[in-house]
Amino acid sequence: AFDRLLAPIDIGGVRLANRVAMGSMHTGFEDRSKDFGRLAAYLAERAEGGTGLIVTGGFAPNVEGWLLPAGSLMATRRAAHKHRAVTDAVHAQDGRILLQILHAGRYGYHPFIRSASGRKSPITPFRPRALSAGGVERTVDAFVRAARLAKLAGYDGIEIMGSEGYLINQFLAAHTNDRTDAWGGTAEKRMRFPVEIVRRVREAVGAGFVVGYRMSLLDLVENGQTWDEVVTLARKLQDAGASMFGTGIGWHEARVPTIVTSVPRAAFVDWTARLKREVEIPVIASNRINTPDVAEEILEHEQADLVQMARPLLADPDFVRKVREDRADEINTCIACNQACLDHTFANKKASCLVNPRAGRETSLVLLPVPKKRQRRIAVVGGGPAGLAAAVSSAERGHHVTLFERGEQLGGQFRLAMRIPGKEEFAETLRYYERRLEVLGVDVRLDTSASEQDLEGFDDVVVATGVRPRVPDIPGIDHPSVVMYDALLRGELEAGRRVAVIGAGGIGYDVSEFLLEDQHKKLPDWQAQWGVTDDPQVPGGLTRKHPAEPRRQVYLIQRKPAPLGKGLGKTTGWVHRAALKDAQVELIGSASYDRIDDAGLHLTVRRSGQTPQSRVLEVDTIVICAGQESVRELVRDGDAGRHVIGGADVAAELDAKRAIAQATELAATV
Ligand code: SF4
Repeated sequence: AFDRLLAPIDIGGVRLANRVAMGSMHTGFEDRSKDFGRLAAYLAERAEGGTGLIVTGGFAPNVEGWLLPAGSLMATRRAAHKHRAVTDAVHAQDGRILLQILHAGRYGYHPFIRSASGRKSPITPFRPRALSAGGVERTVDAFVRAARLAKLAGYDGIEIMGSEGYLINQFLAAHTNDRTDAWGGTAEKRMRFPVEIVRRVREAVGAGFVVGYRMSLLDLVENGQTWDEVVTLARKLQDAGASMFGTGIGWHEARVPTIVTSVPRAAFVDWTARLKREVEIPVIASNRINTPDVAEEILEHEQADLVQMARPLLADPDFVRKVREDRADEINTCIACNQACLDHTFANKKASCLVNPRAGRETSLVLLPVPKKRQRRIAVVGGGPAGLAAAVSSAERGHHVTLFERGEQLGGQFRLAMRIPGKEEFAETLRYYERRLEVLGVDVRLDTSASEQDLEGFDDVVVATGVRPRVPDIPGIDHPSVVMYDALLRGELEAGRRVAVIGAGGIGYDVSEFLLEDQHKKLPDWQAQWGVTDDPQVPGGLTRKHPAEPRRQVYLIQRKPAPLGKGLGKTTGWVHRAALKDAQVELIGSASYDRIDDAGLHLTVRRSGQTPQSRVLEVDTIVICAGQESVRELVRDGDAGRHVIGGADVAAELDAKRAIAQATELAATV
């Protein structure tokens, strides 16, 4: 059924087994050669799982191009030899691998940064120095050197990073290039930098070595490239010797989301299709492609020659193998949450994956099969994220697992999350777990509140009973206008037109979005909301935002002083904050709740240095998102056979990442 996805392809003289390319993603293992063993294990596991082509995280061609101080660098023969561990490991699994060369330009997080001009980026604290004409030449040479070294290191080719707003984009766009010499002033001159890089790299490496170029299809910044310029550039790069085009959408500083879960799947594939029509070399589609069905459809409609997935291969290294073996329903799908991958990378931590905590820990978190005589009888109580992960991981090792769930369906907090518009992907995680439980033969008992009697005879009991919402102590909390967030999300009650949401953590934000939208946005509405246009003349593809009329008046309130939403994810929080702003949600910090009655919610706002202000929010509905408490009835302190995980262990913040990791770590040791 996935014939196109599984069809081989030749690129620049290198044969790939299929059309799945693992896109470049910085994991944090690239920065020190002492971590190359772990990097090799991580990439080799993806090659073993059948991935057709792997692209490494970005390596700078020189110190000025570092992303971070003393970050990943490919500038010496000594460095190249260290990469042998990586290339050999991938080749041993019959994989193909490219080294990505990335010069961060003004996105570098260190004082030596250089750019086309001296303009500071809005997302980094350092101001770059403009490269001199000689500096530009030396930078081109550095790319060439890195490409030669990649060949020496055994790579099948390189990818030149020309998207997401890094140095090459900074040359290409008038937004960041005010030069008046041979490298700026007109669109043609701004293009010279990448064209020279590709031309000289090709000359240096010869034929039979992939020279990929990752093209920014849409800059999504003011004064970015127009579509017509993108096409002109593509043709020049093709003539200069590029073997294929990877694609990227949006600079890192762009204020349009491009990969988070609320972005519709394959939202930008029309642009890939347009590029494909203009060039002869293969084009790779990217961004929010996370299932084999979406990928196959893109290939079937000839919108691309390959599909790029980075996060989906963190989530499941066996993605391709499962497709090949007709087990696509067992794929652990990336839900585009960014919580353990990009949020980690941007916080300078090693990347992993919320739904697959083994990602990046291939050598240390291993689920080894247990010999028959060591197989145990394990009861898992609670079918939320922690319980599901514990049950599946334990069963994968060969233990006999019984899963008790007191509700009529599995899923716990995930089942609530998937009702939030833009978070429907959580349904995939449930599909994955339910299918794995079935395949592994786990005894699932729904509608069963496990009693101590039920748990007798098990060698181990895993308490994953989760949380219950905390009811705050507010006079009038029993008023009929009050509803707990879980009941609202389950559809037990329809909110009125004016709603106050108490608690502005992750759940408060989710609930606000749930109140504002009735379903996941369709692509044209989504583009209108964020101001994305396909007009070929518009620089950066960016136009005015046209957010939809909000369905309700929503107030989002917290006790803590403003600003609200500070604790949201590093790479996703701004999207939620922008969505609520566009929907005219009023954010109220420093609030204390006086009472609830027929008039609405009475509160007092105490901002430092100001007189306290009393307000009545005349609302029809008040939704409580004021934290949660652990459900711990089955916890037995001092009992070595009883393990407590997930929300039952710590309820402070709902944290599926911690819950699944904790469950998997437990399963690895029991
Ligand atoms: Fe995907 Fe989330 Fe895993 Fe990142 S952490 S790979 S976004 S599921």
